[in-house]
Amino acid sequence: MGQKIAKRHADKGVCLYRQRLFKEALTEFEIACRKLDKNDDLFAVLNYMCLVYMDLGRYHDVLVCAKRQAVASERLEQKSLQLEATFNMARAYERLGEYRTSIALCNRCLVTGKPPEMSPLSGYTHLCLGDNFYGLSDVKKSLKHYDRSSHVARVLCDSVLECRVYLGLGQVFESLQDHVTALQHFSRASEIARQFTADHPCEKLQRRVDVELAVVYGKLGRVAEALEICEEAMKVALCNADRPVQARCLLNFAEIHRERHDYQTAYPRYQSAFSIAVETGDRKCQLDVISGMALSAFDAQDLEQAIELNEKGLSLSKELESKLEMLTCHRRLCDLYMCLDLHEISTVHGFHVRQLLRELQLHCGVCGDVIGEKDEKLRPLPCYHIIHERCLVHLYRPTSSTSLPLQRRRPCPTCRHRTSSNPVSEGDVDA
Ligand SMILES: [Zn+2]
Ligand SMILES: [Zn+2]
Repeated sequence: MGQKIAKRHADKGVCLYRQRLFKEALTEFEIACRKLDKNDDLFAVLNYMCLVYMDLGRYHDVLVCAKRQAVASERLEQKSLQLEATFNMARAYERLGEYRTSIALCNRCLVTGKPPEMSPLSGYTHLCLGDNFYGLSDVKKSLKHYDRSSHVARVLCDSVLECRVYLGLGQVFESLQDHVTALQHFSRASEIARQFTADHPCEKLQRRVDVELAVVYGKLGRVAEALEICEEAMKVALCNADRPVQARCLLNFAEIHRERHDYQTAYPRYQSAFSIAVETGDRKCQLDVISGMALSAFDAQDLEQAIELNEKGLSLSKELESKLEMLTCHRRLCDLYMCLDLHEISTVHGFHVRQLLRELQLHCGVCGDVIGEKDEKLRPLPCYHIIHERCLVHLYRPTSSTSLPLQRRRPCPTCRHRTSSNPVSEGDVDA
């Protein structure tokens, strides 16, 4: 008898979730969870709760539910459910900026689960790995996993996965200041997301893509378009209690005001974005806010405040192991301490800049210049090393002395250099 009532609560929760009445849905799911005594029923309800918490940006709660799923699936001794729980945990850890833990769980999904190469689990796990390596600023590995995920998406005709891959790729190129390529990827993601109708479970992707599009438009000086898209995304995010998108929109508004030197208007928006990011547990977003505020302080000639914020950004980026952000902070601190004639400290930061550039392999294999310092079109090679697009022409050479127009491409200079100096090639395991 009690079980019937519990299931009724669960069904009601699903209906409410479909109507996007998240709070009400959660109440029903909570009641169902307390009463259900069959582990498979419990697992299914917890799955819905993970989805709701993910939509709301309550990542700590996603993790709690995923861990309860793991316990339930353990008791059921069902491998497919155990993998699903592991994947849900990986997803939550990624959002919380616990990239290494998330990667370990993804690898567990792929290694112990051995899902078929062309299965949704494999596709989404590679997507999650791509997102994690993007978080760790490992561009090469993130591109590799997005590529695999994209392949699965195409074979399975999974437009949600395809959209998410473009979103991830756009973010990678955006982080390397290649706004044009980022825009291409975000535009592809947007085209796909537009096809999702209002009742599609992933209609939220539209506003997630839009806010990233707005960021790029802002960087490309298309401010009116950026504002328009961002205002629309904010409106929809407020209607849907979508906290992560609200935070990104506020940050974007702040950045636009900063570019206009209107720091008074920018400041409260940075603060609101930061408090939402603290509430959701999204440390990457917190870092982006601190970075923007540091630039604001520098532009307003408040060097002490700029130093303080960059130091704060540096320690958070170290916690996250986000090396591109560490690089940015060291670069700025190097300049700031130099401005204050504190040469010794400045030199230390300069040393870290050079070290990180080497670690991140951010030198174009062809011309040797640093990648990601200024807005420039980039090109990934089949090995996922990145070079300037303008340097691509130097990788082609005529095949013979005949006048045939056929050309053969030279191998990637970075790979060739690494294999000749180090005969042990890089392994394929991303532990
Ligand atoms: Zn180059
Ligand atoms: Zn290479």
